[in-house]
Amino acid sequence: MTTADYGTLSLWIDGRERGLEHGRSSEPVFNPATGQVLAELPHATAAELDEAVRAAAKAFAAWRAVSPFERSKVLRRAADLIRERLDRIAAIMTLEQGKPIGESKSEIIHSAELFDWYAEEGRRAYGRIVPARNESLDHFVVSEPVGPCAAFTPWNFPALTPARKLGGALAAGCSVILKASEETPGCAVELVRALHDAGLPRGCAQLVFGVPSDISRHLIARPEIRKISFTGSTAVGIHLMKLAADGVKRVTMELGGNAPVLIFDDADYDATLRLLAGGKTRNAGQVCVSPGRFFVHESLYERFTRDLSERFSSMRVASGLDPEADMGPLANERRVDAMQRFVEDPQKGGARLMTCGRRLGNVGNFFAPTVLSDLSDDALLLREECFGPIAPVVSFANDDEAIERANAVDAGLAGYAFTSSLKRIRDIGRSIKTGMIGINSLVVSTPETPFGGVKASGFGSEGGIEGLQAYSDTKLITMG
Ligand code: NAD
Repeated sequence: MTTADYGTLSLWIDGRERGLEHGRSSEPVFNPATGQVLAELPHATAAELDEAVRAAAKAFAAWRAVSPFERSKVLRRAADLIRERLDRIAAIMTLEQGKPIGESKSEIIHSAELFDWYAEEGRRAYGRIVPARNESLDHFVVSEPVGPCAAFTPWNFPALTPARKLGGALAAGCSVILKASEETPGCAVELVRALHDAGLPRGCAQLVFGVPSDISRHLIARPEIRKISFTGSTAVGIHLMKLAADGVKRVTMELGGNAPVLIFDDADYDATLRLLAGGKTRNAGQVCVSPGRFFVHESLYERFTRDLSERFSSMRVASGLDPEADMGPLANERRVDAMQRFVEDPQKGGARLMTCGRRLGNVGNFFAPTVLSDLSDDALLLREECFGPIAPVVSFANDDEAIERANAVDAGLAGYAFTSSLKRIRDIGRSIKTGMIGINSLVVSTPETPFGGVKASGFGSEGGIEGLQAYSDTKLITMG
């Protein structure tokens, strides 16, 4: 597999691919494992963004009238095409994003399964009849597609995040303009290609790239766009919510987390260690539900810190194309600089660095999986999402303290606890303030279940039945 396998990149506007013609502006896409340029990414012009909005409005009028049964066939065919093209899209993902090829394949399968889920769930967009106070009236509650949508997705899951938004919007009967990450555009190009090859009418799913702030400002200001869905940092999410507020537009915001992990003295120790060592380094820690802050009961603290460090030190950090790689490079140079800061900051306050904790080699964005212990509460790692392969481990003495510290951040996306006590499981389920909680498990993202956060992690869910509702308006029809 080489750079040549990456292929060329394009926009998708009104059913047609557009490449680098006409001397339009563009930017290079890099391989994070080598620093080499993979391809040149065309940018959409302002006129093309307007064209896409007009096409989305026109397509919406027709697509909403297509029966959910027929819409579901298109999504199912697209899912099948994505599975048929698995090896090719996985190669694109690993080349542009860096994750090990096995992780790329499972992300693509998961993305196809999201299309399958939405294909089915779109057929169950039931309404209801509400008994009226007056027998001469009937109240019907129905769901209607919200309208043309604008979706913005980041670089850490280049297929999964677009699939969540495309699938939900299309199944509900909306059209959607996607601006995927300019750093990992190739997978989104392939998803939109699969939708077109599956028979999706032109203008229903479009793909644009450019300067992110220019595109979001342009699209959100257009009155035709009725819904905004964003996955990314809280700062950008706040900015987009302000833009959406001007037009009173619905928003779904998935804004990252800083997941607490509570390890109690009655946990299944070996299983917990194994799960967390793999879970923390999945996608090099660039996962919004990644285990973020490790709180370990004081009776296990030294042992867990040592064992996790040993596991991390024995991992093979290499190009994602290397079949033996446990972890690939970070997706971009910014993350390497950020990791350096997250490692240095707590050491000023006396934290112990348990592994090598630095950049590896001088080609590509490789960073060693890192464990830090004995951190003070004000350490940056305990306050902000590091979004990388660094595990800060601190001890706790009792359950109340663990829960209080778990909740002591603004983020509220995922949280995890490991225990065999039923009472603790109930207490944790009720008191951890996050949108998702994994108990003795890290599985919080499946097509069937709602994915979303609370507090500074945003609001609205994707996946599950909620993922469809996010693209539907509720309408009451009273008949007299
Ligand atoms: P960023 O917030 O600048 O970018 C995140 C994504 O948002 C990118 O894909 C970018 O293209 C897009 N974006 C940025 N500005 C935008 C705008 N004005 N309009 C529309 N889209 C815009 O951050 P970054 O440097 O890529 O990453 C920094 C932090 O963001 C990470 O440390 C992490 O905390 C968070 N993040 C979260 C997720 C997530 O899954 N929730 C994903 C990526 C990054």
